[in-house]
Amino acid sequence: MARWNLWHGCHKVSAGCAHCYVYRIDARVGRDSSLVEKTADFDLPIRVNRDGSYKVQPGEMVYTCFTSDFFLEDADVWRAEAWRMIRRRRDLHFFFVTKRIERFYCALPEDWGAGYENVTIACTIENQSMAEKRMPIFLEAPIRHRALNCEPLLERINLERWLGAWIERVTVGGESGEDARPCDWDWIYDLRAQCIRRGVAFHFKQTGALFVKNGQSVRIPRAEQQRRAQMAGLDYQPK
Ligand code: SF4
Repeated sequence: MARWNLWHGCHKVSAGCAHCYVYRIDARVGRDSSLVEKTADFDLPIRVNRDGSYKVQPGEMVYTCFTSDFFLEDADVWRAEAWRMIRRRRDLHFFFVTKRIERFYCALPEDWGAGYENVTIACTIENQSMAEKRMPIFLEAPIRHRALNCEPLLERINLERWLGAWIERVTVGGESGEDARPCDWDWIYDLRAQCIRRGVAFHFKQTGALFVKNGQSVRIPRAEQQRRAQMAGLDYQPK
């Protein structure tokens, strides 16, 4: 997997942003996360070696825009160029998560059509109100590969009426950091059951820092959060 961070910095838009890790990490070095800047890696996908081969090898999954939001207003001026690079590298698959699906149509390339085959867009759904707001927009948008990212999961969510073959995977996890809000096993198990009933792949990625099971809250160190989720054995892949 390759990582491509085009721009850095963001603005908080919904409940899931309250303890944003970008703000947390920037605060440690006195950086203002609300100042959005292009990164030095902006053109990474089209950089070449001396022999003319691309630095990012064909076939890679490219995890994109992970200290900002691809559809951020501040990045409208750079997005057309980003789409051009994505179109040029059809031999890569780009994946990004957004909390701004309502801005999907801003600076969309003319040849987008029903969506580029090499792009997966994951929409964040952290609570029921964001499900009601974002899901209709997300399902309406012409996107070839859609996923849902329920991180941080902040409450029990009913997504079932929107789930089906058009959603390739639901990923769930808790919140990280010292001030993390609780994530409850029951909410995760309930979402998993919805995915199974609708034949959608489910991935429990990490527990978050404050995990609740059977009414008991447990603090889980960062280094343990992914392993504990894996150990739960909840991942589901439809046949
Ligand atoms: S959209 Fe993502 S990167 Fe931006 S403030 Fe919210 S959590 Fe942070």
